[in-house]
Amino acid sequence: MTTEILHFIDGQEVAGAGEDRQDVFNPATGQATGSLHIGSPEDLQAAVAAAKKAAESWNDISIAKRTAILFKFRELVHAHTDELAEIITSEHGKVFSDAKGEVGRGLEVVEFACGISEHLKGEFSEQASTGIDVYSFRQPLGVVAGITPFNFPVMVPLWMAPVAIAAGNTFILKPSERDPSAAMLLARLWKEAGLPDGVFNVLHGGKEMVDGLLTHEDVDAISFVGSTPIAKYVYETGTRNGKRVQALGGAKNHAVIMPDADMDNAAEHLNAAAFGSAGERCMAISVAVAVGDAADRVIEKVKALGEGVTVGNGMEKGSDMGPVITPQAKERITRIITEAEQDGAALVLDGRDLVVPGHEEGFFVGPTIIDQGRHEMAAYEEEIFGPVLVVLRVDSLEEAINLINANPYGNGTAIFTQNGAAARTFQRKVTVGMIGVNVPIPVPVAWHSFGGWKNSLFGDLHIYGPDGIRFYTRGKVVTQRFPEPESISGASFNMPTSG
Ligand code: NAD
Repeated sequence: MTTEILHFIDGQEVAGAGEDRQDVFNPATGQATGSLHIGSPEDLQAAVAAAKKAAESWNDISIAKRTAILFKFRELVHAHTDELAEIITSEHGKVFSDAKGEVGRGLEVVEFACGISEHLKGEFSEQASTGIDVYSFRQPLGVVAGITPFNFPVMVPLWMAPVAIAAGNTFILKPSERDPSAAMLLARLWKEAGLPDGVFNVLHGGKEMVDGLLTHEDVDAISFVGSTPIAKYVYETGTRNGKRVQALGGAKNHAVIMPDADMDNAAEHLNAAAFGSAGERCMAISVAVAVGDAADRVIEKVKALGEGVTVGNGMEKGSDMGPVITPQAKERITRIITEAEQDGAALVLDGRDLVVPGHEEGFFVGPTIIDQGRHEMAAYEEEIFGPVLVVLRVDSLEEAINLINANPYGNGTAIFTQNGAAARTFQRKVTVGMIGVNVPIPVPVAWHSFGGWKNSLFGDLHIYGPDGIRFYTRGKVVTQRFPEPESISGASFNMPTSG
């Protein structure tokens, strides 16, 4: 029995005109659970037309009324946390408690958006010149599209939509086709919160749908989160078509372990940050850079912890880690591990042959540690996006920083040390957007923005927080004079100067 997964356009769940269907799987069982309706060009037109029409009135609705809907939405998401988390686990595979954490991090952004009034206040300069006041404020862009990855089917859409909608835009979400059902529950909750029809829409599909959004003249901006090649493509295509684009890409996040670090603490965090969510986090730690004699001490501890990770169905109590997303992902991850082994790396922990009893058809890979990693190995060069930690050994902090800076990605990084000077040098010198000091996955809180450097972000503005507001609005400046009759002095041909 599979469930039909429809689109959400103009406040209604609709099958759409598209005839293509794609199976959605439960990665823990390997069984198809959903049949996803893939949208056609007609469905794209319908969604954009609904969003464009809704934008005319939504922008006119007062901030107070918009905010009231945001607060209601916040309550509903909070009340439906378990239901959302269950959907995430059933289609993504991550364990239920982790899925609840994902909803919680998304809720933070909804809460930030509830305070939109504070961010749209504008600025005012009284008497900027004699008899002249100047003020500036920001207005929404119109129709915004969000294109999201499989690994956070609730959190990443909530990085975008609440801020865009609170700022007065309408929104079309194109979720990942691998785990699209959570987006539909979010749509129902927006409607229940009182959001007018057409302000939040969900449109399913893959490359063709993305291309349709990137080239549609009535789509004003695109927020994208996904892998680097697609992020680059989305940024280039979207901007070439006159749209504002922010495109967040992939990652290879290094954690530096200094010899003075608290090794028990570092090992626990490495274990959780490398293997949590089966390594399918854009902020997962996938490389441990061990400085000096830190390597042997920390690896032994991470190995012991990794061996204790319970891999299983994310809905079963006691599971620490679930499956990876597809059989293709499993095949790719195991191939990269095998190549590293053939290239002379040491497999300290090998998760390739893991079988979860009762879930023989599931897409499982166990925690894996590859020691003696080198630059040129695919295991280091590529984003593996699986439960694999590669260890590189270096002699100094400087060498560690050079290694990180030579890497084409720059999403997140961390340093484990008790030395404030080392931590300060590290945070000043690394060419990475988000840095943790004794914090392994430094995803910023909702009132700071999230974004990497280099191949991890295309565009100027980071996502959510203050940058999110800037991205979803544009500025206007008014220079205003209401002269008293006696002070009217006439116009001049000269460039006006202050006085
Ligand atoms: P993906 O790039 O395959 O897909 C992302 C979105 O793009 C999906 O909606 C998909 O339908 C669409 N898409 C796929 N192929 C396309 C194509 N050829 N043309 C146009 N659109 C296309 O990414 P994924 O596998 O779903 O997600 C994992 C990736 O996302 C990882 O690389 C991870 O690091 C990255 N990610 C980054 C962040 C971040 O904040 N930087 C956050 C989460 C995930």
